[in-house]
Amino acid sequence: MTFTAEREQNWAGTHVYGASRILNPTSVDELRTIVAAEPRVRALGTRHSFNSVADGPGVLVSPIDIPADIVVSDDRTSVAVGAGTRYAVVATELERQGLALHNMGSLPHISVGGATATGTHGSGAANGSLATSVRALEFVTADGSVRTVTRGDADFAGSVIHLGALGIVSRVTLDVEPSYRVRQDVYLGVPWSSLEGAGLREIMSCAYSVSLFTVYGDDITQMWVKTRIPEGVDDVEMPDELFGGKHNDNRVAFVSEDDNTTPMDGSVGPWVDRLPHFRIDRNPSNGEEIQTEYFVSLDEGAAAIQAVRTLAAKIQPHLLVTELRAVAGDDFWLSETQGQDSLCIHFTWAKHVDEVAELIPQIEEVLRPFTPRPHWGKVNTVSASELEERYPRLGEFRALVAKHDPDGKFSGGFLDELVLGR
Ligand SMILES: Cc1cc2nc3c(=O)[nH]c(=O)nc-3n(C[C@H](O)[C@H](O)[C@H](O)COP(=O)(O)OP(=O)(O)OC[C@H]3O[C@@H](n4cnc5c(N)ncnc54)[C@H](O)[C@@H]3O)c2cc1C
Repeated sequence: MTFTAEREQNWAGTHVYGASRILNPTSVDELRTIVAAEPRVRALGTRHSFNSVADGPGVLVSPIDIPADIVVSDDRTSVAVGAGTRYAVVATELERQGLALHNMGSLPHISVGGATATGTHGSGAANGSLATSVRALEFVTADGSVRTVTRGDADFAGSVIHLGALGIVSRVTLDVEPSYRVRQDVYLGVPWSSLEGAGLREIMSCAYSVSLFTVYGDDITQMWVKTRIPEGVDDVEMPDELFGGKHNDNRVAFVSEDDNTTPMDGSVGPWVDRLPHFRIDRNPSNGEEIQTEYFVSLDEGAAAIQAVRTLAAKIQPHLLVTELRAVAGDDFWLSETQGQDSLCIHFTWAKHVDEVAELIPQIEEVLRPFTPRPHWGKVNTVSASELEERYPRLGEFRALVAKHDPDGKFSGGFLDELVLGR
């Protein structure tokens, strides 16, 4: 086991952990011993959240050094993995075995346990967040014993997206399906008018996964279309123009020579190499950014974007890019997409800490009529009372936490202030 006594920070350097120590056990038994012995414990994944959601007053314990131990079920419909395993590792092994996940986030270097805990998502109007493929979770509980929660259990919907409040997840079981192929095409210059009426839903539903990128200029700069190739078909044809955007025919290098993004040249390849935005075999970016993201109803999405566009001139000097994605609704109590198909309005900011801090409340103000739910792992200033209004099942979640962690071993900080109302 390694541990760190100095102050450590998250991937983006936007948060310095206040916890006294960070422990990295190398086995589940070691993890159980730590949890049983320590009075206050919070789980830490691969540190990709931008805020203090993982922090706490005691020790932080991360399962990233516990072996992945990837086990595919005999019927090949599920895979069990160590919670600290990065999606890149799971996805590569699944593809090797002819299997696939239903979706991926933009970055495959994030841990399965950490991504699940905050409702991390990819895109696709018919695709739920990554947490929707969770079949079972094994929690190391306050006394060091292991409690398994399985789909179909009474508290399952309250336990999947849990922000670390229910214990330290040691293993996760995910649904898998036979491997499939995807092609990724880019369209340039999609007019804003294409979002009008039912346009946004139509765009987001036109392929397996669609992302729109903009810097709030004259148009939507790029549309990334990830098309799932049907079984038995070599390829599908893509139109030269889609929703007014022009197909990008540059088949060599789309962004730059040392591009670390997945192929966008319309070539067909395994899901694992096309669904994430960043390549599994490259180190993505260096953390010189801040991220913010809000979820609104997909049906109100076009109006919500229009509201954000009124701030374009203020936003532009500090924005690297906005990405718009769709996620299907689910019934998890703490899910940002609970009860509604959602549009995710994401901002990757330059690390202009003060300016971004000033802008965020202004964005939240124009989005207020759309009752946005902020991404649990990204920077925002949405208050505890607003969260309470926007999460109708928060009370049930609090009761679940009180039942499984009556002494608050896994709480503190962000959780207490914003979620548990302690
Ligand atoms: C470059 C980049 C790209 C991103 N892309 C996306 C994206 O495409 N879509 C999206 O939705 N988000 C995205 N995110 C956000 C990211 O997916 C989430 O913040 C995610 O929760 C980070 O997981 P992590 O393993 O780093 O967990 P951490 O940030 O370390 O922790 C997050 C939360 O999970 C809990 N947790 C972690 N591990 C466990 C465990 N084993 N048991 C119990 N609780 C645990 C922590 O206590 C904390 O509450 C991105 C972030 C970055 C930096």
